[in-house]
Amino acid sequence: MKRLFSVLFLLTVAGSTGGSMAGDSLIGKARASYSYKPGEVKARLSSLNEVPFDKVRIDDLFWAPRIERTQDVTIPDVLRIAEEQGKVDNLRIIAGRKKTGRIRVYNSPDSDIWKIMEAASYTLAWREDTDLAQKLDELISLYAEAQADDGYINQMYMLPVDHPQSPEKYRQGRYGRELQFEGTIDEWAKGIGQLYSSGHLFEAAAAHYRATGKRNFLQIAIGMADRIYREFPPGEPINYADHPQAGIGLIKLYEVTGDRKYLQLADHIVHHGHHGRPPDLGNRESWKPIEQQRKAWGHAVRINYLYSAATDLCRYLDQPNTRAALDSLWHSIVDRRIYVTGGIGGPAHAEQLADDYVLDNRSCYCECCSNIAHGQWNHRLNLLYGDAAYADMVEIEAYNAGLAGISLKGTEYFYANKLAVGKQGRSGPHSGVRKRYLFCCPAKLPGFVAGISRWIYARDARGLYVNLYVSGSATIDLPDCSVGLTQKTSFPWKGLVAITVEPNHPGTFDLCLRIPGWAQGRPFPSDLYRFDDASGVDWIVKINGDIMEVTDLDKGYVRVSRLWKSGDRVELRLPMPVRRIYACENVKHDRGSVTLMRGPIVYCLEGVDHDFSVLSMVLPKDAKIDAEHNEDLLNGVTVLNGQGLTEGDRPVEFVAVPYYAWQNRGVDEMTVWIVEDPNMLSSGGGSDMPMKDPDPANLVTSGTISASCPMASPNLFRTRMDDKL
Ligand SMILES: [Zn+2]
Repeated sequence: MKRLFSVLFLLTVAGSTGGSMAGDSLIGKARASYSYKPGEVKARLSSLNEVPFDKVRIDDLFWAPRIERTQDVTIPDVLRIAEEQGKVDNLRIIAGRKKTGRIRVYNSPDSDIWKIMEAASYTLAWREDTDLAQKLDELISLYAEAQADDGYINQMYMLPVDHPQSPEKYRQGRYGRELQFEGTIDEWAKGIGQLYSSGHLFEAAAAHYRATGKRNFLQIAIGMADRIYREFPPGEPINYADHPQAGIGLIKLYEVTGDRKYLQLADHIVHHGHHGRPPDLGNRESWKPIEQQRKAWGHAVRINYLYSAATDLCRYLDQPNTRAALDSLWHSIVDRRIYVTGGIGGPAHAEQLADDYVLDNRSCYCECCSNIAHGQWNHRLNLLYGDAAYADMVEIEAYNAGLAGISLKGTEYFYANKLAVGKQGRSGPHSGVRKRYLFCCPAKLPGFVAGISRWIYARDARGLYVNLYVSGSATIDLPDCSVGLTQKTSFPWKGLVAITVEPNHPGTFDLCLRIPGWAQGRPFPSDLYRFDDASGVDWIVKINGDIMEVTDLDKGYVRVSRLWKSGDRVELRLPMPVRRIYACENVKHDRGSVTLMRGPIVYCLEGVDHDFSVLSMVLPKDAKIDAEHNEDLLNGVTVLNGQGLTEGDRPVEFVAVPYYAWQNRGVDEMTVWIVEDPNMLSSGGGSDMPMKDPDPANLVTSGTISASCPMASPNLFRTRMDDKL
């Protein structure tokens, strides 16, 4: 009966001409004439399209060394941890390659592996690495062997519960074959992570296909996507609660295969799935369908994933109610509930957003994944609206809260990203100490770094857009020509950008250069934070050496429309003075304090550079601050030097370093907000809500722990399962 309903329903969809059953959902609407060319899917309604990462080549001194380190150091290391943790051995047991061995139970172990494989794919597009490519092929073969005949793949729901060493937790009914796509929102931890992990499978497989042209991984993803499609046929209720990440992944799958079925399934899951999670401070706002939500409530990572997927749907489908919801949700975060670094989340129980203007720099949560997810959401909003304000937000995440999560060595990670810490009570990733471990964020960060190329350019029928200034090159296909673009710049330290334009034949199109908000006198795309004075800098655009008269910006871009020929040169000069940032008065934790910013970089003071407490140092309003590049510090950074006052009004020299580079020189104090007027400090500031690392006794990694089954490496941080994702 269920199947008959599906068939009848699909026939109805194909033949109908309008009407909507459920808000903005595609379900019930006619989309009969939806043409596409596999691999060349273009957004219908948005103004911009992404330039795929395999068309963008980064060759600079900031990101390229990080991508190289990701490939050479980070990915091999996290794959090593995955082996040590037994996450790969679990697969070997499922595939029948191993007959004996201990089953290890984790929350969404495959998502960690698939995120790493996604990151590895980005690096392979950047530079060949036969060893890494072979390692990926080995993992893909293992997954292919482990995959069920019906396409299902997820180790936590395939492992044999009757295995002699199957752990107790596994048998207790939280995981296991009988829970495939079982678990309701009222018992959300049961059956958890299946759509979440699948979304990462789809993203990884799509990236691998783009990077290598091979279909081996893609076939596994298609098998699982088809399995999910059969489990949750569009048009039928979804009686399973999980995670919106599947929507993001299915849209990626749609983009590389051109198969509209995956767009339809993404639409179904985003609009009809259960993505909320108890508790929800917003009276279960996050449990509502996305098009009915107005204020962002709920788990900081989940909601940013949900909004990302919904924005993608708006790019491909006509969903005005969802767009209206997304606009309101974006303002509810960016106007009132985001930290100056771009950090999102807390202080609030269970990794949620707190209420308006509650931005406690010490007890914030700001998970790496929520910060990165906010960047990916804003990237999609930039594509949807063609507005540079969203790319401003992308840039903030890229150079601040997103990047801070990983150490300069590339092998240690934060989980929470604090904006102020004391020296005491520091033990792990929640408290401001990066650790080597593998769960969630450490798997997400390599893909963020290696996939930064996706955020640099965009295109539409009129021309191309430069959103981030990064040295390198790109090949961008426009309707009438293919354009080679070469950028040379020393961003983020110097604001001079030289771009050479090389169309394959002379052609008329627009080249749009983003003028960052910080160059226009706005550190943030809202009034939550402001500069000491709102004046912009005197930026200049030159075309083949001639200064261009710019009267108006078009949604934050200088739009250069002309007949371009090979070798045309564009120059952009963006002066980078040191700026003081103040929070809006409603943010009591930031009252009487100032933050320093230069270009896109937000700065902090670290105790390691000073012999006094940076938490109480006063920076007088009129203190002169100079920028100086130090190639020998923190892999080469521009630091800010000035004079402050410490106890007894004693003058002291201070040095501020980029926030992203903090906690690479031991455990010490740090603060992003510097005291400017001690009399204005809020009495409520500086509270230190507990966000402790979990007790190791609560960590679940296997049913039993014995000397014959060492717990990976001793410095490995493991985390409790229940509060994550
Ligand atoms: Zn995370």
